[in-house]
Amino acid sequence: MDPAATRSIAQCRVEWTQEGVLKIFVSSDMEGTAGVVDWSQCTPSEPEFAYYRGLLQEEVNAAIEGAAAGGATEFLVNDSHSKMANLRPDALAGRARYLSGRHKPLYMMQGLDASFDGVFFVSYHGSMSGTPATLSHTYNPQAISEVRLGGVVAGESGINALVALGHGVPVVLITGDDTTAAEIEPFCPGIRSAVVKSSVSRFAADSLHPMEARELIHEAARDAVRALPQAAPPHITLPATLTVRFRNPDLAEMATWIAGVVRMDAVTVGLTDEDPIRLYRKFVTVVMLTRGIAE
Ligand SMILES: [Zn+2]
Repeated sequence: MDPAATRSIAQCRVEWTQEGVLKIFVSSDMEGTAGVVDWSQCTPSEPEFAYYRGLLQEEVNAAIEGAAAGGATEFLVNDSHSKMANLRPDALAGRARYLSGRHKPLYMMQGLDASFDGVFFVSYHGSMSGTPATLSHTYNPQAISEVRLGGVVAGESGINALVALGHGVPVVLITGDDTTAAEIEPFCPGIRSAVVKSSVSRFAADSLHPMEARELIHEAARDAVRALPQAAPPHITLPATLTVRFRNPDLAEMATWIAGVVRMDAVTVGLTDEDPIRLYRKFVTVVMLTRGIAE
C-alpha cells in the first residue's frame, strides 16, 4: 500500500472515531515478560506457571493503565499464548474485555476490527531465526525455522501486523526483549517499545525488576496513545509475500496441500496475497496443518 495513502487513512480514523472513545486492542503473549526465560515458566501444566502468569498479568495491566493515562477509554485483551486463557478476567485493569480460548480463526489477532485506534503487542518474543532471543519461535518451533515477510525476517509481530494493516489500525507498542523490539521496526517504523529484558541466549536473559518493567511499559503505552494522531498502519507493501522455511521437507510438502501455497525449495514455501488478512489466514492454516506432523 502506498505510504501516503496509509497516512491519510490514519488521519481520517481520528476524525471517524466516536467522540470521547479511544479503543486499544491488546494481543498478549507470555515469553516476553520480564523474568521469564524457560518453557516451564509459561506452560500451564507446570508448577512454576502460576507465579509467572501473575507477572504477565501485571505487565498487561501496566499497558492498559498507561494507555488510559494517555487517553484510551476502551480495551480488548486477546490472550494469545498457549491455550490462550492465561489471565484472570476480574484482575484486568481498565474494565478490559477479555477474548480468550482456542480455535480462534484470527488467532493472535482475533477481535481486532477497524473500530480500534491502536494495537499493542504485550510480552512478545523474537523470531526463530533472528538474533538470540529468549524462548524465540515463530508460531511453531517444532515445524517452522524461519519466516520472511517481503524478504525481511519476521517474527510473530511482523506477521500479526498484516491483520492490523488489513483493518487500517496502527501497531503502536511492543513489549518484550531487545531482539523483539528490533524485529518489528521494519514493519512498524517508529513504534514505541518497552524493552524489559536483554536476551543472552534462547534460555537466558537479564531482566528488569518486575516493578521497573511495569513502569517502563506504563510510560511507553501512555506515550504511544498520545502519539496516535501521528501513527500510521503497518508499512508492508501489497501484495505481500510470506516465505516459510520448515525444519524438514515433509512439512513443506504438507503446506503445499493448501491452495495458493507454492514450493520454493525442499524446505521452503511461499504465500502471496494482495489482501493482508487473507494472507494471514492462509499462514495460520499452514501452521495448523503442519502442527499435526511436527516432531
Ligand atoms: Zn507464547
